[in-house]
Amino acid sequence: MSDAIVLGTVVVSRKTAADGKLVLPASVAIALESLGEALRVRVGDQPVAARVTHITCAKTCGGADSEHRHWFLQGDAFRTLIVDAAYELTLHEGSVVCTIVSGEGAPSRVGE
Ligand SMILES: [Zn+2]
Repeated sequence: MSDAIVLGTVVVSRKTAADGKLVLPASVAIALESLGEALRVRVGDQPVAARVTHITCAKTCGGADSEHRHWFLQGDAFRTLIVDAAYELTLHEGSVVCTIVSGEGAPSRVGE
């Protein structure tokens, strides 16, 4: 792991298992969206099809007092991620890599 850039950590919800959408912090989503068609995603070593999507939310989620966006990294492969587990998103050699960091089945963290 020499030149991997840590983008952030996402937690898989039951909703992710149903719709394949990982909730992204806006800052991460915007960084990924800027890659456009060049966006490549891997879960562990496995390349998967995924894209950045968003919905516009009109104050319905509580907390926010104006219209805002919720961002997702969406792909069918994410339905197989472990619910309640945390995955770290890193940018490594041009690919976004999802690596489990906590939860059932997580490996101990060792450098590559
Ligand atoms: Zn909202």
